[in-house]
Amino acid sequence: MALRVAIVGRPNVGKSTLFNALRDVAGGGARPRRAPAPAARITSPVARTTRDAATAPARLGPLRFEVVDTAGVERDGVDVDGQRGAHAGLAAAMRARTAECVRRADVALLLLDGAVGATGDDDAVGRWLRRRAGDVPRVVAFNKCEDGRDVSGADREVAARHADVGPLLVSATHGDGLPDLLDALRGFG
Ligand code: GDP
Ligand code: MG
Repeated sequence: MALRVAIVGRPNVGKSTLFNALRDVAGGGARPRRAPAPAARITSPVARTTRDAATAPARLGPLRFEVVDTAGVERDGVDVDGQRGAHAGLAAAMRARTAECVRRADVALLLLDGAVGATGDDDAVGRWLRRRAGDVPRVVAFNKCEDGRDVSGADREVAARHADVGPLLVSATHGDGLPDLLDALRGFG
């Protein structure tokens, strides 16, 4: 049974872009991609047609696995923990589907936006994931970290609270950090 990796995160962090990048590297290994594909062509059709999770065979270098682009974790006014609180809520149906994806995964990859840093919504998703993941290990990564973009120590600390491994710095569009992702995933393969 292939290692199954579920990508989880708030909207717009680049889950679908990473999903497609990992699919695209089949046979190509963990080399940086030479040119980013047009975002509208990669992400929009997926977002419109699959509110549920999409699963695809993926490959990073020698590692073959299955990658899951989860339904998403979005606001709907329902608190993330099912309790009253300041943090964003999640659309209930999508939250339930995402939880199912995480339970069926071998690794949950919590994705944040490195260009924005760790937000309150990320924190809410991270806490939700901790409760839902059970024994499924969590890796956290900041996406959009191409061209040497770094994140602050504070952002790293927030991210690290929500995972067993990371934070990694990756770029779904440029391929930066994918060798580090490979190393992290290999630990679970
Ligand atoms: P999702 O909602 O988490 O699935 O996010 P998408 O994959 O739809 O991406 C949201 C936006 O972020 C799109 O405009 C992408 O082109 C952009 N994006 C995704 N990955 C990267 C990246 O590595 N670097 C940069 N600069 N933009 C990215
Ligand atoms: Mg998406």
